[in-house]
Amino acid sequence: MDFHTSEHIAGVGSRFDPHEFAGALRRAGADGCLAKARCHHGWCYYPTEIGEPHPHLECPDLVGGIIGAARSVGVSPMLYITVGWDEKTARERPEWRQRHPDGTHVGAPDGEPGWRNICLNTPYADFVEELWRELLGRYDFDRVFFDIVMYGEDGCSCEWCLAGMRREGLDPDSRADRRRYAFGSRERFMGRMTAAGAAAKPDVPLYYNNPWHVSAHPEACADRFLRHQQFMCIESLPSGFWGYDHFPFQACYYGHKGLDIYSHTGRFHTAWGDFGGLKNPAALEYECLRHAAYGIKTAVGDQLHPSGAIEPYTAELLAGAFAKLKPWQELLLGAEPVYEVGILVGTGTDPDAPFETDNVPETGAMRMLLERQTPFRLFDGFEADWPVRLMILPDHVHLDDERKAKVRRFIASGGKVIASGVSGVGLEEWPVEGIEPYPFQPAYLHPAGEGLLWDYHFALYQRSWRVKARPGARVLAVLAEPYFNRTAEHFCSHRHAPVRGDTAAPAVCVNDSVAYVANDVFRGYRRNGYAVYKRLVHELMDRLLPDPLVRTNCPTTAELTLRRRDDSLLICLLHYCPQRRGQDIDIVEDAQALAGVSLGLRVEGRPQAVTLEPEGVELEWEWSDGYARVQLPLVRGSAVVMLHGAGSG
Ligand SMILES: [Zn+2]
Repeated sequence: MDFHTSEHIAGVGSRFDPHEFAGALRRAGADGCLAKARCHHGWCYYPTEIGEPHPHLECPDLVGGIIGAARSVGVSPMLYITVGWDEKTARERPEWRQRHPDGTHVGAPDGEPGWRNICLNTPYADFVEELWRELLGRYDFDRVFFDIVMYGEDGCSCEWCLAGMRREGLDPDSRADRRRYAFGSRERFMGRMTAAGAAAKPDVPLYYNNPWHVSAHPEACADRFLRHQQFMCIESLPSGFWGYDHFPFQACYYGHKGLDIYSHTGRFHTAWGDFGGLKNPAALEYECLRHAAYGIKTAVGDQLHPSGAIEPYTAELLAGAFAKLKPWQELLLGAEPVYEVGILVGTGTDPDAPFETDNVPETGAMRMLLERQTPFRLFDGFEADWPVRLMILPDHVHLDDERKAKVRRFIASGGKVIASGVSGVGLEEWPVEGIEPYPFQPAYLHPAGEGLLWDYHFALYQRSWRVKARPGARVLAVLAEPYFNRTAEHFCSHRHAPVRGDTAAPAVCVNDSVAYVANDVFRGYRRNGYAVYKRLVHELMDRLLPDPLVRTNCPTTAELTLRRRDDSLLICLLHYCPQRRGQDIDIVEDAQALAGVSLGLRVEGRPQAVTLEPEGVELEWEWSDGYARVQLPLVRGSAVVMLHGAGSG
């Protein structure tokens, strides 16, 4: 329940009625709710001696009211405290604001509406800690959400940070050093709040919300920040800037880190603060079921009207989605994920890598797997082992010595690899060696008559690489070059120049364990959506894994996840098909039909029964060649197929 309320609005909390609030929680079927102690405008909603209550707060203890209302109906309250965005502080103590290296402020420009960022190295951190201690002594809550614990890409150059960097021997003129210092500052702040919390309420878990980095640079490595989280919340409102691809990416990474984990969507048509904007019921249903399909708990963001009055329809909207969600959660939460392909992200491996988060190739790889209904997860290389049969190293995975050794052990124990771009080149297990940038972009890929794709010169829109095949490796396609790159000096027609002819440089090269593509093919799929790239990777997967875990005729729009509960396997199917209907927004309005779907799952034991859940309807099935095969009835939007007694393998 968001509640960021301007001081220019009167009568705040005047219509808050704890009975009405509790009734809405009950009608929605919620089991948790959020109480905002302090909002991004910098105002508190309780009688504080440290901060300042909202100047027009008419319900003196809204925080206590919400917590009490929640408790009265058995709903678990979570406390919310803003950190990095604070308008009141930005106004009153501009010297505490984060600064860019040129001295300008970070966040919304002066004179424009929007949030401004406060630095955690200023005395502001002492203020937040005092407020936190006050709240610890005053209220009974089950979890805490510290919001906006973050720095921008440039770090901060305020006077406290400049002095701090000099003290630590860092160079404030170096972007890398500024970021290194900012990441350290964030960790210090989290450590302080955690220590204060642990002293007063050791059983209350804390979460620090910030933009999560799955980035190659060690300082920006997500693994380091996870150490500070006592639970995890993936903030991902698909109709906001996050889009529908953000959640599965995050879920397939953070969902495997052993933390109690929620994901936030919102009841908004767009995102936070969208008063009067309601999400389509089918979209909310999809987003909630999708959380369960990935084994993650659901939170749905709403925003309370400044008066505190309840909008009755919201409870109805949530109740519809939660009614569908509940049986899915009973089946799927706590069930163990099952997957056979991994995507290795280069997080934390390359000290020379830029700090920027660039998950474009990984997201391209993820889409190729989603569209083929291949169960997968993301690895960062900190894992002890990779329990998959095939690992994808998309485009830009730099391997440090430790990860090089892991990749070699993985291959030695029978693991297969698909790599592209610079990933892993140099390892003697690779079918190619030597790498330098290819001078043409786009280049062309020409299959070499080895059964890959078909005879055509396919445009490679993204960067290509010149490598040499190692002895014994098979070249499945070569690079072909255009007449020239499109430049001011020479260009041809509306776009890139046509192909001039083949070269001897491999474009796709394989050995028994590794398939290598000399192009940033995963970035290409994400940026350009050329289905040939996906088909290329799928054909390589077929060669390396001729007996995949899942065989199905599902269309590319269907999403499949697989989980194991006791000795049963649960196949979740979702089919809602977001479509770009607004210029900048993907819309889901209907649960889409899936007709004539056949599913084959490779299982070690013959199942005892196959049912469609949560209805519990028995399905006809066959068992042959190690696959349980089932023909599904018409599915509308969602289905769980349960293979009873087949999960022991
Ligand atoms: Zn600073």
